[in-house]
Parts: sequence; C-alpha cells; structure tokens
Amino acid sequence: MVASLRARDKRDMKLHNREMVWELILGSRPVSRARLAKMTEMSPTSITRIVGDLLEFGLLVEEPDTHGGVGRRAILLDVNADALFTVGIDIDVHSVNTCLLDLNNRPRITLQRRHGKDLRSPAGVVETACAMYGEMVADTGVSKDKVKAVGISVGGTVDHEQGIVKVSPQLHWKNVALRDLAEKAFGVPAILENDVKAAILEEYVCHRENRAGNVAYLTIGSGIGAALMYEGKLLRGGSNAAGEIGHTTVQPSGELCDCGRYGCLYTCLSEQYLLAAIHRFAGADAGIDQWIAAQRADETWANGLASEAAGYIAMALNQLLCSYDPQIIIVGGRLIQANPELLGIALQKKGLIYEALGSDARIVPSRTPNRDALIGAAILARSLHLDRLLHER
Ligand SMILES: [Zn+2]
Repeated sequence: MVASLRARDKRDMKLHNREMVWELILGSRPVSRARLAKMTEMSPTSITRIVGDLLEFGLLVEEPDTHGGVGRRAILLDVNADALFTVGIDIDVHSVNTCLLDLNNRPRITLQRRHGKDLRSPAGVVETACAMYGEMVADTGVSKDKVKAVGISVGGTVDHEQGIVKVSPQLHWKNVALRDLAEKAFGVPAILENDVKAAILEEYVCHRENRAGNVAYLTIGSGIGAALMYEGKLLRGGSNAAGEIGHTTVQPSGELCDCGRYGCLYTCLSEQYLLAAIHRFAGADAGIDQWIAAQRADETWANGLASEAAGYIAMALNQLLCSYDPQIIIVGGRLIQANPELLGIALQKKGLIYEALGSDARIVPSRTPNRDALIGAAILARSLHLDRLLHER
C-alpha cells in the first residue's frame, strides 16, 4: 500500500514538474536548459529528461543562441508554433466568429458569419462553425490532423464542467448540450466557456501588461458581465456564474429584464436597451453609429444618453472595485469598441466611483475587444489538449 502510494506521489511530482517547465518555457522563451534548471531549482538531469519528453511530443524546437559571447553556443528552446492548432468559436447575438490558433497564440485566420434567419438554433450555429472550420483549414493549408481541440465561448450562464449552456438570454437558449454537439461535428474534444471568462483569459495570457494578482474584466455590449482572475486562476463561483453583474439591481422600479426581474444593470446599459433609447430620440432607423455621430456633433440628446450610459459604467466599475479590489480592470465589449469615449466619461464620474478603492486600480480599455473571447476560447481548447497530452505518461 505504502509502496504504491509512493509510486503515485512520484508520478504526480513528475507531472507537476513537466507542467511547470512547460509554463516556464512559454513565459521565457527562448530559454536554455541551464536557465530552466536555475529557475526551477531542479537538477540539470531532470530538466534534460523533461525537455526530452516535450521535444518528443513535438512541442519544442531547438535553436543556437546567436547572442551568446565567445565559446560554445548554448542551445535555446522555443515553442514549435506549428506543432498543433486549436479552433476558437465565439457565438454572439449577431454572428458566429471562428479562428485557428497556433501554439504561439497567433490566430492564423479569423472568420465571421452573421446568423441566418433561422440559423441561430444551436445545431445551426454548430453547422455554420463547422463549415467555417473547413474554409479555415483550406485557406491556411493547416492539416486537420494538427487541429486538436475546439473551444466555444458563449454569453450567458455556462456549466463549464458539463459543457452545457444553462441560460443564454441573448440567444434565447436554455439547457443546450453545446459541447457534445461540437464534439460530434468536429470529431475532436471540445470545451465550453462563458464569453467574459474566455475574454479575460486572452487578455491575461496574451498581454503581459494585463497580468497582476487580481485582474477584473467588464464587458459592455449585447450582454453586461464581469470576470475575475485571482492569482492566475479564473474565479468561477459555485456554479460558474461569478461575475453576472448585468443582473444586479440598479433601479428597483426600473424596466422589466429578460431575467424576469426589474431594473437590472442590463436594462440600463445593454446594446438592446440603449438602442430603444436611441430610437426614441432619433427615430426607428437610428443605430449606435448615429448616436456616436450625434455625440461627436455635440447634440444634446446624444450627450445626455452618453452621460447616462457612462454613469452606469461607473456604477459597474465601482461594484467591481468594492467587491474585489482589483489592481487592473479591463473594459471591453462591442459598445466600448464602438464608442471608446464612454469609458473616459465614466471615469470622470467621480461621485460614482469610491475613490479610496479606485485610486490605485488601472482601468483600461481592452486591447482586442472584438476578438478576445474568440482567442480565449481557442486558448482554453489548447489547455484542454495539453493537459491530456502531458498526463499521457
Ligand atoms: Zn436581469
């Protein structure tokens, strides 16, 4: 009994070390074996063995250090970008977006298709995504053998473990086993995640300046939501719904929300409710673009609506500051992408942001608001594949 426990402990240790070395290579590439040994405080023999495994999996390439001094040149290890690919799928209220991501976090191609009239059904969306996948591999020449997993991001409450969309108010979906549908269609493992959680993952993994112990993400678009990374880990909550701040009450006697209650933040700030306000002021044909143009032309109604929306953004930021005390808040989503001035106006609303908490936090717009959830989904798919691969032996 004791002997078998010891054997298992040893195996767990081996796995742990291999993952640690892989993460270090990702973070400090290109890097020499000697430097890895120093960083991990492991013996050169152990590092050589682990690097040997990763080379055998095809995940790494070796190259001579061209910056070294005189004498024998060190061999540096780098990630083999072409070793494997993952598909990212982001389903929003208007369209299906896909990408093919390499091991260096670079999307080789991204595509977008608007939903057909009757294609917003889960099966229709998966079928569209699958056709887009065919186009992506054809256009890039990437072999399907190298595509190892699919990651899907969707707005709403998602059971990440079971791969089920529990409720997506914006898509009008309830209890949809989307992961199984995707696995059947694509023929590779799939993983499902809430869009805001996928977005914060991209912001955190791909942009070094967004890394801190406690990072929050706020999205404002067809949905309103938040996500939090604490010490490099996603905060999920008991049912993966942590961050659903769109359904916190901000006007107790406000409008009826899709969730069945009144005066949620969603009813004051989401695209669909702002559009209703724009229609009241500027006619039924006016859209977000007309509002922004009118705001830039200094029209009173447009400035008024911008100030009101910015007030609700400030309230959402304040809520995150008071609940989590983050060092960085990244603000993304389609509304901020279309109208970036709103964030500046929100930050001027000093009366709505608790200064004692907010003064140290960096509040910044997303670097890639139109595709962070998409790339985040592909990154998740890759973690799923690498976890399985690295545990293989
Ligand atoms: Zn609600």
